[in-house]
Amino acid sequence: MQRDLEMLLKLQVIDYDLGELERSKEYLPDMMENLNREIQEATRKLTETTQQISEAKVRQKHLELEVKAKEGELAKYQQQMMSIKTNKEYDALVAEIDAIKGAISARETELLETMNLLTNLEKEIVTVQEREAQIRENNSRQLQILQEKIDSIGSKVSGKILTRQEIVAAISRPILSTYERVRKGKGGRVVVNVRKRACSSCFKALTPKKVQEIKRGDQITACDNCGSLLYWDDAESN
Ligand SMILES: [Zn+2]
Repeated sequence: MQRDLEMLLKLQVIDYDLGELERSKEYLPDMMENLNREIQEATRKLTETTQQISEAKVRQKHLELEVKAKEGELAKYQQQMMSIKTNKEYDALVAEIDAIKGAISARETELLETMNLLTNLEKEIVTVQEREAQIRENNSRQLQILQEKIDSIGSKVSGKILTRQEIVAAISRPILSTYERVRKGKGGRVVVNVRKRACSSCFKALTPKKVQEIKRGDQITACDNCGSLLYWDDAESN
C-alpha cells in the first residue's frame, strides 16, 4: 500500500510535468509572438521618427527656398518704388509689397516651427534608436531560449512517457485505475495529503473514522467531497 502510494505520488508529478509540457506548446508560441510584436513595434517607431525627420528637412528646405524667392520679388518691387510716377501706381505697389512681406513672415513662422520640430525629433530619435536596439537584443535572446524550449518539448515528452510507463508498471491495477478515473474526472492533483484533519484539495473536514482509516493506510481512501485520493503525511497532516 505504502509503495503504491509512493508510486502514485511520482506518477502525479510526471502527469503534472506532461500537462505543463502540453500547455507550453500553446503558451511558448504566444510568448514568442509577443516578443516579436514588441520588436516590430520598436522598429515601426524608429522608421516613423526617421520618416518624420526627413519630411521636416524637406519642408525646411522648401520654406527656405520660398522665402528666398519672395525676398527676390520684394527687392524687385522695392526697386520699382524708385520710378513710381502716380499715386495710383504707388498704392498698388505698396499693396504688393505688403502682401509679399506677409507671405515671407508666414513662411518664416512656419520655418521656425519646422526647425523646432526637427530639433525635438533629432533628440527623440536617439532614445528611440537606443530603445529599439535594446528591445531587439533582449527579445532576440529570449526568443532563442524559447525556441530551444519548443524544440526540446518532443524529447522531454518522450522521456517522461518512458518514466511514466515504468512507474505505471509498478502500481497495482485497481489503484491505478482509481487514479486514472479520478484524474479524468477532476483533473489536476489527484493524490493529496490530509491537512488539519481535512482534505487538502477541497478543504472539507474528514470524519474521525476516515482519518483513522487514512492513518492506517491499508487501503486507498477517497475524499467524499472531491474524489481526491488521500494519504497521511506525518510531517504535515497533524
Ligand atoms: Zn476533497
